[in-house]
Amino acid sequence: MSGKFLKVKCKCGSEQTMFSHATSLVNCNGCKAPLSHATGATAAIVGEVVEELK
Ligand SMILES: [Zn+2]
Repeated sequence: MSGKFLKVKCKCGSEQTMFSHATSLVNCNGCKAPLSHATGATAAIVGEVVEELK
């Protein structure tokens, strides 16, 4: 399984680590807004990716 972890920043300012191939919705810890949409193989990131974690 390939993929990487991303640090995503929500528009509310909260940062959260998520898997780039998340298969389910990921919601912000702060405002509960969706940070990704599952689109099959790859998660569509809604927030701003601030860092890729190796
Ligand atoms: Zn938020």
